[in-house]
Amino acid sequence: MNVRTVLISGASIAGPALAFWLQRYGFAVTLVEKSGSPRTGGYPIDIRGTALEVVRRMGILPRLRAAHVDTRRMTFLDADGIEVASLDPRALDGGVAGQDLEVRRGDLATALHAGIRDDVELLFGDSIDTLHQSEHGVDVAFRGGGRRTFDLVIGADGLHSHTRRLAFGPEEPFHHYLGYCFAGFTVPNTFGLAHEGVLWSTPGRAAALYAAGDSDELHALLTFARPQPPHSAFRDPRAQRDLVAGVFAGAGWEVPGMLAAMRDADDLFFDVVSQIRMPRWSAGRVALVGDAAYAPSFLTGQGSSLALVGAYMLAASLAAHPDHAAAFAAYERDTRPFVTENQAQVGTGDAALFPTTPEALERRNTMLRTLATTPAAARERPAHSSLTLPAA
Ligand SMILES: Cc1cc2nc3c(=O)[nH]c(=O)nc-3n(C[C@H](O)[C@H](O)[C@H](O)COP(=O)(O)OP(=O)(O)OC[C@H]3O[C@@H](n4cnc5c(N)ncnc54)[C@H](O)[C@@H]3O)c2cc1C
Repeated sequence: MNVRTVLISGASIAGPALAFWLQRYGFAVTLVEKSGSPRTGGYPIDIRGTALEVVRRMGILPRLRAAHVDTRRMTFLDADGIEVASLDPRALDGGVAGQDLEVRRGDLATALHAGIRDDVELLFGDSIDTLHQSEHGVDVAFRGGGRRTFDLVIGADGLHSHTRRLAFGPEEPFHHYLGYCFAGFTVPNTFGLAHEGVLWSTPGRAAALYAAGDSDELHALLTFARPQPPHSAFRDPRAQRDLVAGVFAGAGWEVPGMLAAMRDADDLFFDVVSQIRMPRWSAGRVALVGDAAYAPSFLTGQGSSLALVGAYMLAASLAAHPDHAAAFAAYERDTRPFVTENQAQVGTGDAALFPTTPEALERRNTMLRTLATTPAAARERPAHSSLTLPAA
């Protein structure tokens, strides 16, 4: 049988994980990424439940265990910077001590890249311009000028996926805005924080400083409620900075210093807190994986876990079914319940951390004080482990 060729767009988490499994199953894989090199920034991310089994089967679990940042405490502050509660983060996110992993997004991306760089064709600094599907394959024109034909094209290019736009149309019908925006960037750790996070809140606004391990840098996060997504700011970093500075003007605690640092930050990551929900994840020879198909939002803490599990399931389906339509149908049938269950976690845990009214903030604070005095182990979330993986 001819080797099947697959083009994957996006080399963050879902893309390299899919590339790893597809090349193991004998596919010829090309990975195109618009950024010039692997992107290593970002907040620490969680790997839990079924996704842990995926990274174990990829052989990167020991490496990720060594990179575990082991956050031991989250401290919540009121408008004046006074402590409301301080607790083990596992009490909030359903994490399981000794099992679940929290690693810097860049450490996960680097581990995934190490597993593919010798076997997968990597095209950094390029992206898909147009796609044209026929019975025989997908003709792809790249922005860099190249033209090639692949048997299949997979979009792993995130929440605002260009591949999705080309194969399914505009983002709007699939985009479910959850009412918040966030800006993340790094600042020097002049606070002496280690293995912990501090979250300041007023109704509709939250500012966090997060020490991943005992690094000399902190992840700063400014989150705010906003009824409509700020469309005009999406492609304009200066507008993003102005918007955030305006929302947090007059805020107390360390927020003024954070706003000053954001102005100069070269790693600002600004986005909406949204989910992608689609009735189908494939159209002909094109399919989607990870945030492109089913972003759950950071309020669930499950984005990277869904990307890893989705990549594994898609590759396994393509390996099991020579016919791509049957493979895509199996991928969707077997993965969708897990995705739906995890997207539904948005109403719990982290989402409740960002109340928009004084009353809701008081309820949250009462909940945090209660959690601070209750053992964490009992709160594992069944949704994180509800899918049993097929054999590799
Ligand atoms: C630099 C970075 C920082 C992040 N920081 C955070 C964070 O702080 N908090 C959080 O909750 N989530 C963050 N995320 C998102 C998080 O990684 C994802 O929610 C999750 O891991 C799912 O991964 P994914 O691979 O499906 O999508 P993503 O991680 O979003 O990756 C999509 C990839 O596709 C690439 N891409 C986009 N468009 C194109 C195109 N047209 N052609 C080719 N490539 C394209 C992007 O550069 C990126 O590498 C970050 C993502 C990135 C890339």
